[in-house]
Amino acid sequence: MIVDVVLPLPVEQTYTYRVPSAMADDARVGCRVLVPFGPRRMTGLIVAHPPEQSPDDFPFTVKAVLDVLDETPAFTPEMLRLTRWMADYYVCAWGEVVKAALPSGTDVEERRRLARTDTPPGDWADHATARAVLRYLEAHDEATVSGVRQQVGDVPLALLRRLERDGLLTMTKELTAPKVRVKTATHLRFAPAFQHPSAPKDLKAQLRGHKQVAVIEVMAGFRAEGVREPPQTDVMDRAQAAHSTVRSLLDKGMLEAVQKEVLRTPLGDLPAPPTPPERVLHPAQQQALDALTEAVAAERFETFLLHGVTGSGKTEVYIAALKDVLARGKTGIILVPEIALTPQTVQRFRAHFGDRIAVLHSRMSLGERYDAWRHLRSGRFDVAIGPRSAVLAPLDDLGLIVVDEEHEPSYKQFDPAPRYHARDVAVVRALRNDAVCILGSATPSLESIWNARQGKYTLLEMPDRVPVPGHDAAPLPPVRIVDLTLERKKHRLEGALSETLREAIRVRLGRNEQVILLQNRRGYAPVVECQDCGWTPMCHDCSVSLTYHKAKRHLRCHYCGRARQLPRACPSCGSRDLAQLGQGTQRVEEELAQVFPEATVARMDLDTTSRKDAHHTILSRFGEGEADILIGTQMVAKGLDFPRVTLVGVVNADVGMHLPDFRAEERTFQLLTQVAGRAGRAELRGEVLLQTRQPDHPVFQHVLEHDYAAFVEEALPDRRRFGYPPYAHVVGVEFRGPEEDAVQQIAQRWTTVLCQALGREEDDPVEVLGPEPALVGRVKRQYRYHTILKVPRGRRTPRIQEVLRAVNDEVGSLPKNSRLAIDVDAIGLF
Ligand code: ADP
Ligand code: ZN
Ligand code: ZN
Repeated sequence: MIVDVVLPLPVEQTYTYRVPSAMADDARVGCRVLVPFGPRRMTGLIVAHPPEQSPDDFPFTVKAVLDVLDETPAFTPEMLRLTRWMADYYVCAWGEVVKAALPSGTDVEERRRLARTDTPPGDWADHATARAVLRYLEAHDEATVSGVRQQVGDVPLALLRRLERDGLLTMTKELTAPKVRVKTATHLRFAPAFQHPSAPKDLKAQLRGHKQVAVIEVMAGFRAEGVREPPQTDVMDRAQAAHSTVRSLLDKGMLEAVQKEVLRTPLGDLPAPPTPPERVLHPAQQQALDALTEAVAAERFETFLLHGVTGSGKTEVYIAALKDVLARGKTGIILVPEIALTPQTVQRFRAHFGDRIAVLHSRMSLGERYDAWRHLRSGRFDVAIGPRSAVLAPLDDLGLIVVDEEHEPSYKQFDPAPRYHARDVAVVRALRNDAVCILGSATPSLESIWNARQGKYTLLEMPDRVPVPGHDAAPLPPVRIVDLTLERKKHRLEGALSETLREAIRVRLGRNEQVILLQNRRGYAPVVECQDCGWTPMCHDCSVSLTYHKAKRHLRCHYCGRARQLPRACPSCGSRDLAQLGQGTQRVEEELAQVFPEATVARMDLDTTSRKDAHHTILSRFGEGEADILIGTQMVAKGLDFPRVTLVGVVNADVGMHLPDFRAEERTFQLLTQVAGRAGRAELRGEVLLQTRQPDHPVFQHVLEHDYAAFVEEALPDRRRFGYPPYAHVVGVEFRGPEEDAVQQIAQRWTTVLCQALGREEDDPVEVLGPEPALVGRVKRQYRYHTILKVPRGRRTPRIQEVLRAVNDEVGSLPKNSRLAIDVDAIGLF
């Protein structure tokens, strides 16, 4: 028997292997297999059984599969087709998509292990790389080639072989087992002879040690609670007994030990949410739900764009729709922009779906990830909630996929490939399952609203906030614009907070209400500048200036993370007058502490949330009223619902408006509308203050009037005029490498070949821009060039994907160290 196998490599092709007859029954399509590949062994996935072929049909010797790794196929036929489609659409290798869809750490791999011998280095002592390698090996017992390369840099295998030949190190190949396994724990139960109810009494009579008696009593207690096989650790805890006590009871044959699987979940330490009250949906919610359940019942693929203002009850609609889907024996996926930032949403789903829901998390350990994946695959969980990769959750019988905050850029993956957009994959996956897809947002992306207007998506609208019992619907909060230029003229602006904003904060603090402040820049001062010569510290590895972080008293690069000391004097002219310009979150926090010494301030940005549960801790502190003011980057804009927040202040609404990105204004409108929605969600009325230097900018006017439609009316014609989405697909091609000349040459050559391949198309030609240096032309010592394609929507064949593949083929392999990334439907181009 012959199988086609996909390997986790960035190559287009599949590979053919022979299945030994002993494995023939196990080697089903969708199973992972261990196969020889060149001198190595790798884990691959069986994607087809070409039925009529035999090993003799091939002009080469077909190698045999070494092992079949799965009992149940890891991939269903549906997932095989979906991943195949993604590889095709996003112009990457099938193996790369397969890799993204499988939990990492479960592959069997072959590694080269390295070990230092006692032989002295001799002449090699003068060879810098060799010296570094040997030093590394002396410090590490368990070294691998990749470990050495991580530490020392690019170490050629040839060098390692020469060192091996000279007896300085040994290199052995070994097969490493998967890094993660099923985790088990020991549980205890009474031996069969002692399982009758009166047994514990008899047993106690036979025992002398009071610790042993205590263990038997605890076991009897568990049984009375209906737990027949409690975990050994719990028994020991309750009985205050040691291992040896339990062991002697096992030796006496009174108790037995059993191994049970432990489910690792990232939420183990979060308190389980209380059971939520039954809700009667409001008419707008009910109408939306009716439309959704009708399509679910008919098993009809349909995409709904649920456009509801913040607080209109969208989440409640998702929950009701999901209940309906589960009641029909189907499964569902809920995508959220980032789990850590949407703890309240996740907790609400947990409260309703308890042990049926797998929470997928970007900070899960390998083990947690593996468990969640396995139990989704086996059907033990029938709902997955998580960030973009959850769209690939291995669920059968999908009935519903929800994409909450569908406009969020975090749904697009950039590195590594596949560079997919989870929202678009969600729509395709729903289509292939005759399932319903809900895209929800208060500020839908221009792509989605356009699709709704074209009739591709069904638009459901919820224009009002959910009324609070005993009150009318909380109105959307009034937004006031604070003109920073004017405030400065009137001497009402010293630091970042104008007198107007300070007064508004003061009033809230006086009423014991809470305030959220958005400043979408972290650190203390975004720019340091010598006042005498204009010198500015730059990163050595990236072409960007460094941000001053006061807490650690250092300058840090926000692209590569490298930090260095702030010099005392300008290295260029010696002046001591180094000004700290701009306002990062740390600086605003400091200003708040000075102006409102009595208030407690919590800060939330990338720097305060590096620990695993930091988001949760900060938010629950704020939720419990332990802080009066929450200052942070865009993290504070997302999905939070705190009833006592009555003021939202945007410290500088202009941040982000001037990025050379065609979506800059859309993003600003979305972010400001989102953060404005945090104010006055309950009985207390809210207010929003936007500080800006461009008070008349139309985007701010639309935010002020809560007028999404007006924003769309203004933005769409511009997109059409300039040939941007939704009227075209944008494909970004990024070229990277350590030498600028080489990168530029590759970019030029590739783009030339592309233009030839496109030829002279008569109607709807593809527009090619570049190659040009990227805005940040160098990141982590790599130079970056871009070529951008605008592909008109509905363009006829050949499909752009085929053209791109053909160009790649013709250009052939790139010089060492340089690489090229094709990004279909790119986001954040700069
Ligand atoms: P959105 O997701 O659109 O921001 P939510 O679903 O979070 O809106 O609803 C806003 C608030 O109103 C939440 O506190 C939610 O619990 C409450 N809510 C939503 N629907 C109802 C309802 N039908 N009855 C009572 N309260 C509701
Ligand atoms: Zn200077
Ligand atoms: Zn850097």
